[in-house]
Amino acid sequence: MADLKSLRCPCGFEVRSRDEDEIVRMAQLHAREIHGQEITVEQVRALMERVA
Ligand SMILES: [Zn+2]
Repeated sequence: MADLKSLRCPCGFEVRSRDEDEIVRMAQLHAREIHGQEITVEQVRALMERVA
């Protein structure tokens, strides 16, 4: 089973999943809806952390 990954936005939003594609989708949606920014898959992956 894949490791649990987490992505935290400076605004306090957090998404956790074992599915990286889901985190990418959620993060991109959040960035667009809340911050009006487009972020790339590479940016999301760079910010993603493994949850111990
Ligand atoms: Zn945010």
